[in-house]
Amino acid sequence: MKNLNVLISGASVAGPALAYWLHRHGFTPTIVERAPALRDGGYAVDFRGEAHLTVLRRMGILADLERARTGMGYMSYVNDKGRAVAKMPADLFAGDIEILRGDLSRILYDATRQHTEYIFGDSIGSLTEDAHGVHVTFERSAPRRFDLVIGADGLHSNTRRLTFGPEEQFVKHLGVYCAIFTTSNFLDLDHTGHAYRTGNRLVALYSARHNTEAKAAFYFGSPDLDLDRRDVARQQAVLTEQFTGNGWESDRLLREMQYAPDFYFDSVGQVHMDSWSRGRIALVGDAAYCPSSLSGMGSGLALVGAYVLAGELAAAHGDHRVAFARYEQEMREYAKGCQKMGDGVAKLMVPSSRALAAFLNRYYKVMPYLPGKNMASKIARKAAENITLRDYR
Ligand SMILES: Cc1cc2nc3c(=O)[nH]c(=O)nc-3n(C[C@H](O)[C@H](O)[C@H](O)COP(=O)(O)OP(=O)(O)OC[C@H]3O[C@@H](n4cnc5c(N)ncnc54)[C@H](O)[C@@H]3O)c2cc1C
Repeated sequence: MKNLNVLISGASVAGPALAYWLHRHGFTPTIVERAPALRDGGYAVDFRGEAHLTVLRRMGILADLERARTGMGYMSYVNDKGRAVAKMPADLFAGDIEILRGDLSRILYDATRQHTEYIFGDSIGSLTEDAHGVHVTFERSAPRRFDLVIGADGLHSNTRRLTFGPEEQFVKHLGVYCAIFTTSNFLDLDHTGHAYRTGNRLVALYSARHNTEAKAAFYFGSPDLDLDRRDVARQQAVLTEQFTGNGWESDRLLREMQYAPDFYFDSVGQVHMDSWSRGRIALVGDAAYCPSSLSGMGSGLALVGAYVLAGELAAAHGDHRVAFARYEQEMREYAKGCQKMGDGVAKLMVPSSRALAAFLNRYYKVMPYLPGKNMASKIARKAAENITLRDYR
């Protein structure tokens, strides 16, 4: 077997899942993660359909995920008085298994830490490839050599920037911004959530950790605002401008935001690239083909991508040229289908016009009584299942 030592950048979903499969196939994975420790908590992500569940089953972690699932029921759209005007079926938002992203990372970490070297609080500084490997410098650790380097470092991938160039070439803004933070479950929501939409703004609150806390989410339509991703004060000021006096619980949630232990803010984006590898360096998960945070597909796509990438490396006995090409062949159409979902959901969740928002609000009211009421869930499931998984074990 060639190319045994593999450096992975990113310890969220794609990174640890890839490490798991690489180890099973006889490779030696090392993960470098910028955060000082495993990032706990966060928003909910979901898995749906046979492809996702098959990979989880083959990894032997399906039961762990089931134990940690959020158990969310339906979501309600509410009016400004907080009265439910429409109910959305649970599987539309929560898929077959919904879990907090941090809990998922913890399960993947526990499944890999025995045989994976984790380097926290560091980041790749430079990558220099030669005929036999990649010379890697780090921001803190001493330089090292690896046979292959895989970027699993998300939408704003450092590995992609170092290898392919600035992200502006690859990240497509879908015209929506999103903020999420943890707050108290002050509406006493019981495994459910409320969403309130006005024009191109949507505010939601859903219970988490079995009702002991809640996640507040804000979405608003906007062209690219060119905000510094680290400037939390400016991001919170933008959110306050957008949602003050917006109705329902918007003002209260803006106040709660000041005390949030976590605050996530980003534009909703997708990654489109002609190729996911260059020489000995490849990308997996959001770094390569992010379908957007609104698609409900990102974690499953990252998981399947990691499974296929490691499997193809094993099938090619470590020959990266063959394996990276086969990985793209297997994954390209699948990723495209998941990205299409992301486009669609962004337009429906944050409509571009008030007329469309008003139409959707009326449509959702009658949706439970229509024959096509499960159409959206079915479309999402179809996209998630649209791959024939090879058995690489
Ligand atoms: C608000 C929100 C809601 C979402 N909701 C859903 C949902 O309902 N369903 C769903 O399936 N998906 C959802 N997603 C998407 C899902 O979280 C991602 O698609 C999935 O986590 C992709 O995994 P990843 O490992 O590729 O990337 P990420 O989860 O983004 O992880 C990247 C990792 O790389 C690390 N990193 C970044 N830079 C560096 C660096 N320089 N050096 C080392 N490490 C670095 C990060 O700290 C992180 O740990 C949502 C995402 C967001 C943001």
